[in-house]
Amino acid sequence: MLMTPIQSAIQKLSLELEGKNVTLVAVTKTKPNAMLMEAYEAGFKRFGENYVQELVDKYQQLPKDIEWHLIGHLQTNKVKFVAPFVSLIHSVDSEKLLREIDKQATKNKRIIRCLLQVHIAEEATKTGLSETELTQLLDNGVLNELSSVKIIGLMGMSTFTENMEQVRREFKHLKKIQENLLPTYPFLTELSMGMSSDWPIAIEEGSTMIRVGSAIFGGR
Ligand SMILES: *Cc1c(COP(=O)(O)O)cnc(C)c1O
Repeated sequence: MLMTPIQSAIQKLSLELEGKNVTLVAVTKTKPNAMLMEAYEAGFKRFGENYVQELVDKYQQLPKDIEWHLIGHLQTNKVKFVAPFVSLIHSVDSEKLLREIDKQATKNKRIIRCLLQVHIAEEATKTGLSETELTQLLDNGVLNELSSVKIIGLMGMSTFTENMEQVRREFKHLKKIQENLLPTYPFLTELSMGMSSDWPIAIEEGSTMIRVGSAIFGGR
């Protein structure tokens, strides 16, 4: 069968990940349904979206066996729209948000898997919990109250820079944070880090989940 460029890119990436225990999330923000369907028809069914409205639209329009990841910032008042179907929320950055996810998950009789987003970039613009906030959130006992969320790891975004040494340093830092927490919080096994420009470095530094958009679907 002749493959489209999208299908070839996904196949190539999947081959490179073989045997590495790294999950590929294909990031489809701003991309039309037809592009997602190209991937789907080649057997790839795990997509990441940034915006709630776009995620909900695509969920409604596309096949129901797609695994949807929310990777962008999530506002508390929008949790209810994704709670019925989202597979993993990568971007949990406050206790308030976590409580709302738990509430909406309970309403939908679901357990929603989440990652805690940690601020690792040296630049000031990237969102996420500081290390102190992360430790507070884990230590303060709130997780024991929330029975419908399941935290499975951490997520981080590196600085937008061509300086790959800096990027590596930031990924190393997140891995270190995870290693320090694992003895007390053994459920933090996943590490979502790495995008089109830096996923090989992220994997070298311990990523278990990469979020790749433009390298598959072209620039935005
Ligand atoms: C857009 C985005 C990605 C993918 O970026 P690419 O450079 O296109 O691979 C990954 N993670 C997050 C949080 C994003 O917003």
